[in-house]
Amino acid sequence: MVIDPVCKMQVDENTPIKAEYKGNTYYFCSSNCQAEFKINSKKFVK
Ligand SMILES: [Zn+2]
Repeated sequence: MVIDPVCKMQVDENTPIKAEYKGNTYYFCSSNCQAEFKINSKKFVK
């Protein structure tokens, strides 16, 4: 399991809902979180 960086929920890394950012892959519980991450990636990546 991995953590959705937007809402901090645990998600399965087999999910198709993911995004690449600075060479890392992030996984999301929903397309809403994915969309929010894409809009404001810096806010969610430390
Ligand atoms: Zn989420």
